[in-house]
Amino acid sequence: MIILTGGEPMERSDIYELIEYGKGLGLRMVMATCGYGINVESIVKLKKAGIAALSISLDGATAETHDAFRQTDGSFDVAVNAAKTVQNAHVRFQINTTFCKLNIDEFHGIVELAKKLGASCFNPFILVPTGRGKQIADEILDPVEYETLLHDMLRIKLESEIEVRITCGPQFARICRQEKMEKLNKNAKGCIGGRQFGFISYRGDVQICGFHDVPAGNLIKNNFNFGRIWRESELLKKIRNLEEYKGVCGACEYIAICGGCRARAYAITGDHLAADPVCNYQPKGQR
Ligand code: SF4
Repeated sequence: MIILTGGEPMERSDIYELIEYGKGLGLRMVMATCGYGINVESIVKLKKAGIAALSISLDGATAETHDAFRQTDGSFDVAVNAAKTVQNAHVRFQINTTFCKLNIDEFHGIVELAKKLGASCFNPFILVPTGRGKQIADEILDPVEYETLLHDMLRIKLESEIEVRITCGPQFARICRQEKMEKLNKNAKGCIGGRQFGFISYRGDVQICGFHDVPAGNLIKNNFNFGRIWRESELLKKIRNLEEYKGVCGACEYIAICGGCRARAYAITGDHLAADPVCNYQPKGQR
């Protein structure tokens, strides 16, 4: 699967061409958008090009919260109208929400809105303070708030008809195990960045994810040989070696199914292998 993301991918004049090309190679092409540029004409073109699904960012249940989060007046209406347009065109879509202190109180409201709009999936992200997220680094959830949110997510997953998938929250896999609900989280592998998922930046840098702005290698300098970077990068080898992890993550019995967020660890501590600072779990050996 190729996820076209940004910035805003609809800003690319060749977006339809890219989708068509990827589809022609047999890839499942999906796109993450804030809703900008999605209208009756563009959704027809996206469908024709072969888009399989879209994700639309919604960071609040109300215009006030979403527009403040995005620092753009009117962005809530843009996202909601885009969701309606996509739904009317019978294209599968999900709602992506980045959670932090600014919108945590609207968690249930956002889930309800996602259901009302007809989303097939609700995909919460947990803030990683990198890129534009740096500007709201103080708003990152504290470990207690985060743990409560994870349990709320589990409840929604159990009780609600909407599918729930969590990104940048690898501790959800630990919660599922603790609550003996691991079957619920079919992908109970924690973070897959650098293992089953890779990110390619607009500069051609290969990264473990979009939030970990450290190149494992550069495609342009490597003759576009993604496979070689993926197999041989020292950074990727390090990230994949759980035995090198430090702090509570290094001592944790859930390391193989969680592993913590390496981008958050790096953004906050400067060390890729340090403990994920939003987790409040005390490994058995450290109690
Ligand atoms: S201590 Fe690290 S590995 Fe263990 S649950 Fe927390 S983030 Fe995951």
